[in-house]
Amino acid sequence: MSSNATIGFVPPERIGFIGLGNMGAPMARRLIGAGYKLVVSDAVPATVEKFVAESGSASERSAGAERLGKACRVIITMLPDGKIVRDVLLGVDGVAHHLAAGSVVIDMSSSSPVGTRGLSADLAKLGIALVDAPVSGGVKKAVDGSLAIMVGGDAQTVERCRPLLEPMGKVFTTGGPGTGHAMKSMNNFLSAANLAVAAEAVIAGQRFGLDPATMISIFNASTGRNSGTDSKFPNNVLPRTFNSGFAIGLMAKDLRLALEVARSTDAPVELLQACANLWAQAEKRLGGKADNTEVVKYLESLAPQQKA
Ligand code: NAD
Repeated sequence: MSSNATIGFVPPERIGFIGLGNMGAPMARRLIGAGYKLVVSDAVPATVEKFVAESGSASERSAGAERLGKACRVIITMLPDGKIVRDVLLGVDGVAHHLAAGSVVIDMSSSSPVGTRGLSADLAKLGIALVDAPVSGGVKKAVDGSLAIMVGGDAQTVERCRPLLEPMGKVFTTGGPGTGHAMKSMNNFLSAANLAVAAEAVIAGQRFGLDPATMISIFNASTGRNSGTDSKFPNNVLPRTFNSGFAIGLMAKDLRLALEVARSTDAPVELLQACANLWAQAEKRLGGKADNTEVVKYLESLAPQQKA
């Protein structure tokens, strides 16, 4: 094995970063802050222009897949889903067709774990290694570099990627290809379920005469505490700002992925199925771009107010 295949990716390594949305832009800024050079790309040209203008000489806009592939031996994708990731990499004029053998793709999107295994095998035919490294923590933790990063892939490749992942958050290795994405889908099942149960409890309590803010304070000092009561309710629901920065359509997708993982292993899905159904209905009613926390509004609209 050549030494190049074992040396970690350290600054000022040039990294191709595709997807500068709510999460991708602050994550890319963390890499610049750590001393990496970026070649950036997004489907929306104005998004790229804004990012490049703000980051000065540390980033350049990609003039297409060929430039990205030729300039970089590491590509990070932070895109809505795994189908888009596959298309960007292996579709017509996909970036992977321009990457040298020995390159590494790190998919930090929340993609299909099953699809990731297939993508890993297809990229391997081109001599490209895939690492799945989805994240949790939302926009705030993307900004301050404290995301939880769930990393699946060949152990040696993961170690090469560690120096560039650490400026974005805490690295947790999960096993082979697809395990990071499987872990992420299960985390978001818990996250969604936490918000839904908190919402149902608050709606019932409020209709009985309890004050929602008081309920949340008591949950957070009691055994009912979860990420819904601890974070989403105080920050996004009680102030009625519904601004978590995570779209309801993306959470609905993550729940479909969790179901895909559970079904592929014959695991029970009593609660997961109910949760996936709830988010699918909320997405249908509110539109996929609504904030994820607006699922509470959807639940509030379901039952009529209790008569006095
Ligand atoms: P987003 O919609 O804000 O950003 C996605 C970006 O990808 C957009 O800028 C879009 O223009 C770009 N894009 C779409 N198709 C493209 C293509 N074919 N080529 C190039 N660019 C393309 O989404 P986000 O909230 O940043 O989420 C990104 C991923 O991270 C998703 O998989 C999501 O599930 C996951 N995630 C989001 C959060 C969050 O709090 N927002 C937290 C953890 C994980």
